Amino acid sequence: MVLGDRMADTPEKVMRFLENLFEASNIAAARDFENLKSFAMTNGHTGDIQRWDWAWYSEKLKKELFDIDDEILKPYFSLDKAEKAIFSLAGSLYGIKFIPNDSIPVYHKEVRTFEVYDKDDTFLALLYLDYHPRAGKNGGAWMTSYREQHKDLNSDQRPLISIVANFTRASETRPSLLSLNELTTFLHEFGHSLHGMFSKCSYESLSGTNVARDFVELPSQFMENFAYEKEWLDTWAVHYITGEKIPEEIIHKVKQASTFNEGYAFNRQLGFGFLDMAWHSITEKNTYDVYTFEKEALKRTDLFPEIPGTNMSVSFGHIFGGGYAAGYYGYKWAELLDADAFSYFEETGIFNRETAESFRKNILEKGGSEKPHDLYLKFRGKEPSIEPLLKRSGVK
Ligand SMILES: [Zn+2]
Repeated sequence: MVLGDRMADTPEKVMRFLENLFEASNIAAARDFENLKSFAMTNGHTGDIQRWDWAWYSEKLKKELFDIDDEILKPYFSLDKAEKAIFSLAGSLYGIKFIPNDSIPVYHKEVRTFEVYDKDDTFLALLYLDYHPRAGKNGGAWMTSYREQHKDLNSDQRPLISIVANFTRASETRPSLLSLNELTTFLHEFGHSLHGMFSKCSYESLSGTNVARDFVELPSQFMENFAYEKEWLDTWAVHYITGEKIPEEIIHKVKQASTFNEGYAFNRQLGFGFLDMAWHSITEKNTYDVYTFEKEALKRTDLFPEIPGTNMSVSFGHIFGGGYAAGYYGYKWAELLDADAFSYFEETGIFNRETAESFRKNILEKGGSEKPHDLYLKFRGKEPSIEPLLKRSGVK
């Protein structure tokens, strides 16, 4: 019943998806595990690798292999420049413009407001930006809307959209600088905001980001891909002191590091997906032994030695209390979609206006007014393939 309202609309489809990914990635997972194990051994570890050893050795190995961390790109990503670059990226893809308007009332003096206009100068939306942490403000980053697009009897009510974040403030000597992670966060929330701003629907309950849960992260994750594109970074990202572009080898390293231990990460996510589906596919009333049930569901994906007396089902908050019941697969599903969609841009050119127009018309304007699967087919012209995701993650 849960899946009836999703893009992957049957248990069979979800299971096929998980199985296909498992088949394609389990060799990489085993390889990651063995690599880490031998690295740990040469660093004095004795006995098995336990799950609590993983993060420690994984960070050490990553440092040894790539010698970079999340901070390395910071000097190149000043918030000012990133904002302009993201606006002009939307400009090259969709022809839209962002005009600041300080006279619009805001809830805090740090919030800035932009009028967003379409390529033919019709008004599209208001965009509010609230970038920095302050007392009483929630942590994290999100997109929200104060009014969603909808149609009244005679008029199209355009949306009021907001992006809220907690980016580090500028200091007296330094502008506000974003880490790679913060830049992708910005792109992510901006992707959600485009979904809200382009909406062209009748009903508020079906407009903008009111779509199936396994479809809602497509517009946002799609935008994240640009953070790794030299072609886009070269248009704006320069060192805030020296004015130099990001050296080619750093971009290369960052890209490579992003695939580090992805086989293992796939395996972990797939295991959670299998376990979730196993519990939610029960049709018979019975007394289930949680321990045995879980062991069976995870037998192909659990790489670590067994710890007697423990199991994760009882603390799997996502699926029993977090709304992800029969939905955990959605994390990987969204990645499948965004990688497949972005590969279409890679084929046609990452700034291709026609491809962008089709993405806008078929995905970003339609909200939940049509079945996500139909929308995706109209955009892509074929079923999404797992290949682009496997390629991007380096597991194949
Ligand atoms: Zn999101």
